[in-house]
Amino acid sequence: MSLELVNLGYIISAVLFIFGLKMLSSPATAVRGNYISAWAMLIAIVMTLVDFRVITYEALIIGAVVGTIIGWYAAVKVEMTKMPEMVAAFNGSGGLSSLLVGWAAMYEPGNTWFILSTIALSILIGGVTFTGSILAWLKLAEMVTGKPIVFGAQRIVNALVLVGIIVCSVMLCLEPAVDSPWLYALIVLSLIFGVMAVLPIGGADMPVVISLLNSYSGLAACAAGFAINNNILIVAGALVGASGIILTQIMCKAMNRSLANVLFSGFGAVKVASKVEGEVKPINAEDAYLILESASTVTFVPGYGMAVAQAQHVVRELGELLEKNGAEVTYAIHPVAGRMPGHMNVLLAEANVPYDQLVEMEDINRRINNVDVAVVIGANDVVNPAARNDENSPIYGMPIINVDQARTVFVLKRSMASGFSGVDNPLFFGENTRMLFGDAKQSIAGLVAQFKGP
Ligand code: NDP
Repeated sequence: MSLELVNLGYIISAVLFIFGLKMLSSPATAVRGNYISAWAMLIAIVMTLVDFRVITYEALIIGAVVGTIIGWYAAVKVEMTKMPEMVAAFNGSGGLSSLLVGWAAMYEPGNTWFILSTIALSILIGGVTFTGSILAWLKLAEMVTGKPIVFGAQRIVNALVLVGIIVCSVMLCLEPAVDSPWLYALIVLSLIFGVMAVLPIGGADMPVVISLLNSYSGLAACAAGFAINNNILIVAGALVGASGIILTQIMCKAMNRSLANVLFSGFGAVKVASKVEGEVKPINAEDAYLILESASTVTFVPGYGMAVAQAQHVVRELGELLEKNGAEVTYAIHPVAGRMPGHMNVLLAEANVPYDQLVEMEDINRRINNVDVAVVIGANDVVNPAARNDENSPIYGMPIINVDQARTVFVLKRSMASGFSGVDNPLFFGENTRMLFGDAKQSIAGLVAQFKGP
């Protein structure tokens, strides 16, 4: 097919991508937006397949079959609780693809200076995204500690790797060759840099890194698009890159940190939070029911534990029972609750919780004093008052949902264990806090049973 027709297809695909993306911004149009984006992707794939520059269809078919099988298997098999890890792993695959595309573009004869620099960029950003995402995945899966990993000469090693990357990139542009040692060195150094960038970032800062890596995967694809002169790759990559940067900004705001602070603070001394002590007051389902039954405002605050327990459906059921009982019910969403951006929104939407009952952190904090009962469902870091009160705490300064200022707080979790950041939580010892120990789904089901009666 002629280049003009292929580009026309790409333009249609790009316009559909933009509309699809726009529609994702509201839950009412999000599903349609997803379909439109999927159609855009199909058009982009078909146009790529009919492009006159395709050298071998065999390799494309093998790639498509293997990719489809892996994607299908992962989508069907992955447990909902493992979604954040899967998203991180897929993000890494995007980075690896861009690295390989950049590498393959070296085989094209007569690359200009500009093309060579975009090849270097796609290898660099793709490599960083690949290994950075793999490490993020291991940290999310808790196969690698979530705490910042720091060692003595870290800054020097990083500086050396960075200088190496710059030297290799420049040399690759000056002496381009498929078998150039500069090319191989650039690939290896980029992969190392991805690991070095994510190692010192731990605990509560991970959401920023995850959205940043997401943005990098787009930028890498964009650079790869320039390297092989493919317009749709440039546009789609730019869209992912830009939306990832916006998400990163939102996450930074949610943590009340600057990006530079998140990326480099792990290099400093690791803070030690003040010791938390006090008396814990457990409560059982019967007593909790009596308090809930007489409450006129109830706010659920979900966190990662709700995802683990898969308690969202039974939470919605309890919410409906409370409403029938005359209470005003809201769901307070912290931007970094869970393990991926929008994690709680996805779970609550899956359980058909009415969207207008979801309230943002700032909103609920303004009226938290008037909330009769705040029910914390497997949330920990996002409700930790140490972030407000303890200057020595590693999470000091991070905005939290101030559930400790509600009239009564129920905390549903299985033990006194700390959250992802590893910081103890004084909320559990609060005067107005009652701990409802156990799996969140079972605890909520117990409350539902109390409401329904014998
Ligand atoms: P936390 O990780 O702070 O706490 C989750 C709590 O859930 C644990 O303390 C655990 O306690 C409890 N829990 C686990 N399983 C169950 C269960 N089956 N039933 C009841 N409780 C359970 O979660 P938050 O949502 O409060 O905070 C998110 C953290 O993750 C923040 O530090 C955030 O920065 C970080 N993060 C967020 C990302 C994002 O994009 N949203 C990405 C990466 C990290 P116990 O074991 O005692 O039950």
